[in-house]
Parts: sequence; C-alpha cells; structure tokens
Amino acid sequence: MLRLPHPTGMYTRLLGLALGALTFHVGRLLAPFCASGNVMARLVMKFGGTSVADLDRIRNVARHVKREVDAGYDVAVIVSAMAGATNQLVEWSRQAAMLHDAREYDAVVATGEQVTAGLLAIVLEGMGVNARSWQGWQLPILTDNAHGSARILGVNGAELIKRFKEHGQVAVIAGFQGMHKETGRVTTLGRGGSDTSAVAIAAAIGAERCDIYTDVDGVYTTDPRVVPKAHRMDKIAYEEMLELASLGAKVMQVRSVELGMVHNVRIFVRSSFEKPEDIDPSKPPSGTLICDEGDIVEQQVVTGIAFSKDEAQISIRRVQDKPGVAAAIFGPLADSNINVDMIVQNVSGDGATTDLTFTVPSADYERARVTLEKAKGSIGYARLDGATDVAKVSVIGIGMRSHAGVAAKAFKALAEQNINILAITTSEIKFSVLIKATQTDLAVRTLHTLYGLDKA
Ligand code: ADP
Ligand code: ASP
Ligand code: MG
Repeated sequence: MLRLPHPTGMYTRLLGLALGALTFHVGRLLAPFCASGNVMARLVMKFGGTSVADLDRIRNVARHVKREVDAGYDVAVIVSAMAGATNQLVEWSRQAAMLHDAREYDAVVATGEQVTAGLLAIVLEGMGVNARSWQGWQLPILTDNAHGSARILGVNGAELIKRFKEHGQVAVIAGFQGMHKETGRVTTLGRGGSDTSAVAIAAAIGAERCDIYTDVDGVYTTDPRVVPKAHRMDKIAYEEMLELASLGAKVMQVRSVELGMVHNVRIFVRSSFEKPEDIDPSKPPSGTLICDEGDIVEQQVVTGIAFSKDEAQISIRRVQDKPGVAAAIFGPLADSNINVDMIVQNVSGDGATTDLTFTVPSADYERARVTLEKAKGSIGYARLDGATDVAKVSVIGIGMRSHAGVAAKAFKALAEQNINILAITTSEIKFSVLIKATQTDLAVRTLHTLYGLDKA
C-alpha cells in the first residue's frame, strides 16, 4: 500500500509562507487610533446564509451589530447570501449551459451577497446606525483570476478605517466576492467563501476578533446534526480546525482558517440565533475560539471527527507493475487539476500487473474517468472501475503526534460494527478511512464514542 499524506498539513506550511508575503494594505502593526487618540477596537462580524435567510433574520443581525457598535466597536460586517440563494444561482448557471464560462458563473453567483449587504445596510440605517454597503469590487478585495475559487491577494482596509474614523460608519461587506486585479472582473472565492472574506478583512483592519456567527453555537467534536452527543469545544487549534474543515466539516471554509493562522486572527465561532437582548456583556460569550495550539491548556489526543460524502473511488485494473506507471496515471490527473487523495496499490498477483485504487472529489469523478480513458494508451491497463457511493471518515487530533496506536483502535472498533475499510491514509495529526457511504453515520458515531468524545 502506498501512503500519501493529505496535502493540507504540508501545503499549509508552504501556503503560510506564500500568504505571509502578501500585503494586506493595512496590517495589524498599524495601531488603530481614533481622532481623540484613544484606541478604537475594531471587530469583524460575519453572518452566514441561515443567519440572513429572511428580513426578520436580517433585523436580528442588525440588532447584534448595534449591540457591538453601542459597546464602542468599529464594526465591519460580512454577509453571505440568503440561505439557498447561492444554490439557486449555481443551478441556474448549470441549466443555462452545463459548460459555462467561469467569469459569467461568478457574475451570476456573486449577486446573492449583494442583496443581503444592501438589505442589512438599509435595516441598520433604519435603526439609526450609520452604515454603508460594499461590494467586493468596490472596496476592492483583490483576487487572482481563478474564477469560481479565487484567492484573495489584498484588501483595502485603509478605506474602511478611514470611514470608521471620519464617519463612525459600519461597513457592510458582501462576502464571497472579489475583483480580479488585472481585468477588474468580479470573482468568487469558492463555496463557503464568506468566511474567508471575513478573516481577510479582519487581518486587513487589525480587528481584535473575527466573530463567525452561524446556525450552531461553535465548533463541535463532530457535526452536531449527525451526532447529537457531540459537544462544543471552547477552543480548537488552527491546525486541527484546518484538518476538520478540509476533511469535511463545513463550519469554516478551509482557506479562512489558513488565513487566520498566517495572520494570527482570533476567530470566534458563535450562534446568531442567540437573541442580542439576551447576551450579558459582562459574561464571556459562548462559542469556540480558534487559536494557537499553545493557548490550549488541556489538549486531547483526539479532538474531532469529520466526514465527507463528496468522494469518488476509481480502480484501475491490471495495470503494468513497473516503474513510471504512477507518473503515467497521476500526471494527466494533475494536469487536469484533479486532486487525488487516498491511494492504494494492491500487491501484484502475477508479478506483472497490479490494481491501483484512489479517490478524487466526486465533483471531479467524470472528468477523472475521461482523462484516464484518454491516457489509456500510455498507461496500459485492462479496465477502469469507479464508485461514488463511498465516504471518507477522518479522526483528528494534535495529540496523535505523541500517542501511538490511535488508529489501530479505530480499525478494530469499525470491524466490530461490520464496517469494511476500503482505503486508509494517515498523517501527523489525522487518519482517514474510506468506507461505504451508507455506513457513514454509524462509523462517525462509533469513533466518537470510542475516543471518549460523547457529551457527558
Ligand atoms: P453558514 O451558512 O453560517 O456559513 P454553514 O452551513 O456553512 O453555515 O456551517 C455551519 C454548519 O456546519 C452547521 O449547521 C453544522 O451542521 C455543520 N458542521 C459540520 N461539522 C461541524 C462541526 N464539527 N462543528 C459545528 N458545525 C459543524
Ligand atoms: N453564499 C456563498 C455560498 O453559499 C458563500 C458563503 O455562504 O459563505 O457558498
Ligand atoms: Mg459557511
């Protein structure tokens, strides 16, 4: 069996170096002084789709914002599109043409956030809070040109700070969107990208905290909708959150955690459903702080469990067992920008051929098959098999660095539940197993109990 590390850990470090070199126009090194000379603390508040699902919820958000403005903060609010809006826009683009220009996809899907930013600014003004909406291109939030999943290159935080100082104005910023630096075209940051908008803006204005308001009151040991016994963590290390997010927990977009880690942004995940009037400012709010590993006193061996059903498995049957074959297979996939995750190579029975199994994101499954069929001549194999009814379940914890046998325990527990493991990968602080999708919930619950994560 060939074992490849999941890219995250490795690539986070590389990415960290790359991102560290980026210039966010105003970094946290510039002290946020107001005209009187007092330091005005800045706060970023981000509200996801369910939190702005209708006008009532937007009014609720406005009251949360007013609460922080009244407490003396300069506030930048980042909003997502209303729940379901982006899905509808994506669907319309698909129906217009299955293969469409990514620039036009962005022109369509970025509109959801424009609506909520405008509406929230209107509601805030109606409550007597000075506010102005900002689209990604207006600020601007500059990105590269990877339409559909663009990366942020810089944020004009200076404009926001100027308006805080001169007008005491709340900035209501459409999340998820940016503008390509060279062409000036609208870009979007990938699904869940408003989290990344929020953290980037927090870094750019030197915010004291970046509050991510969502429909759960923090980060749990696993998705609380699947395992009711999951419990909320008070703190989680950036690295663990990064693994949880990249392995399927959609509570934070992966890139937002990477940015937070690089720029040392204090990210606090909390519920927007808590009524603003019920919050006692003298008590610490409930939620989960994403922070440095060193800030966590009691580190568990296993912190959390993530799962993803967006996986597809491809098996290449009777491929030549000789040097260069892996390159012939994975080269064309990499050229097509398809991420390969778990790889298993069976022991060759006849000494001449072998079977090779690996996973790709289910969204790339068809493309991967086409790519491999095209390359059949140069690879040389008998048959291609595939399945999309598989899921990846992952166990994450920094404590695994110093504890042996954590994964072995899981294999035994899963076997006792009759769950067959199709592939395994491990890295420093996580391991993943590939199983039949129908067994996902059972596997997650089994492992959650096994590692003592169930709520007391
Ligand atoms: P938003 O629209 O606010 O961005 P998301 O739907 O993107 O919210 O993310 C919140 C959801 O993430 C929750 O409703 C929950 O079902 C899911 N989730 C998955 N894993 C976790 C986890 N470990 N902790 C908390 N929530 C999780
Ligand atoms: N509205 C976008 C999405 O649904 C971005 C976000 O919600 O963060 O993916
Ligand atoms: Mg989200």
